[in-house]
Amino acid sequence: MQAVVFHDHGGPEVLEVVEIPAPVPTAAEVRIRVEAVALNHLDIWVRQGLPGPPVPMPHLLGSEIAGTILEVGEGAAESGLAGPDGEPALPGLYGEPVYVGQRVVLAPMTSCRECEFCRKDLDSLCLEGYQIFGYQRQGGYAEEVAMPADVCFPLGPDDDPVGWSAIPLTFMTAWRMLHTQAHLQSGESVLVHAAGSGVGTAAIQIAKQAGATVYATASTPEKRKKGLELGADAAFGYAEPDFAETIRDLTDGRGVDVLFEHIGSDVWDQNLKCLARGGRLVTCGATTGGTVTLDLRYLFVKQMHLIGSYMGSRGELLKVIEGVRAGDFVPVVDRVFPLAEAAEAHRYLKDRAQFGKVVLQP
Ligand SMILES: [Zn+2]
Repeated sequence: MQAVVFHDHGGPEVLEVVEIPAPVPTAAEVRIRVEAVALNHLDIWVRQGLPGPPVPMPHLLGSEIAGTILEVGEGAAESGLAGPDGEPALPGLYGEPVYVGQRVVLAPMTSCRECEFCRKDLDSLCLEGYQIFGYQRQGGYAEEVAMPADVCFPLGPDDDPVGWSAIPLTFMTAWRMLHTQAHLQSGESVLVHAAGSGVGTAAIQIAKQAGATVYATASTPEKRKKGLELGADAAFGYAEPDFAETIRDLTDGRGVDVLFEHIGSDVWDQNLKCLARGGRLVTCGATTGGTVTLDLRYLFVKQMHLIGSYMGSRGELLKVIEGVRAGDFVPVVDRVFPLAEAAEAHRYLKDRAQFGKVVLQP
């Protein structure tokens, strides 16, 4: 089967299209035909090399996967579960049976499910190791993957795999930031950075569903227009005037209650100027750099909250899935590339011309 791997960290050119044997599922795994795998900036970071333990090599990227089950592991014989026609089944993400022929979307991660944090639905703080597919574990840049059955969530046969691949990591991350970490309330205001990014498109929708007033930044008029179409109440650029000035104008000098941040050092100083008294800044990324300065006097006098957020939990993913099922959240897919053009897709994502997600299809 075809896969895209890299053997050494580097630029998009290290991504190699190869033929490798089809994966064999262990007892608790399923073999899946990958129908769509969505890109994240994480893919670029992992390809380039991150600090920390080395990733498995040769490495398959790809955290957000949707596909159809081709085979279930031997454990299905003793699971006590079955499909509608008596097919052998394994327990899925929330315990529901998963079996051959079923379309599924995958949680982007595993955790131990037993430590003090996992028991409190704080999976991404797992003591035993929270592992993201395509990062600490092998991912979905392949025609087929073998994955634990208990990361699979059953979809219907008519559910679009491309759209669903754009949901799990992206919306789960944004949900955790806005709800679990920043406790966004109806009637509050939020500034979402980078409306055209995957998490930006998710955050706008999640914040609107929560009843917030949503301001969004985006680099081009085209992206700002799409941000408004997605539900933002106002959208504007980063400079001329600087976005902090725009926020002050829009809020009569008050500032926003919540700032949804993933950009990093380039916008840090203006970010702090956007926050209302007692405001919360929640961050999940540092695309432009991770080192910033902070005047503690400013922090304590304005009683700001600076909050870190990382990925999310199975419970948070379920909230997102329910939101998609209810029609509150819609995946925003900018462009689909064939799997073999993964390197081109990486260049496209890096150039930030996209509005929404970039997806690979084997
Ligand atoms: Zn754990």
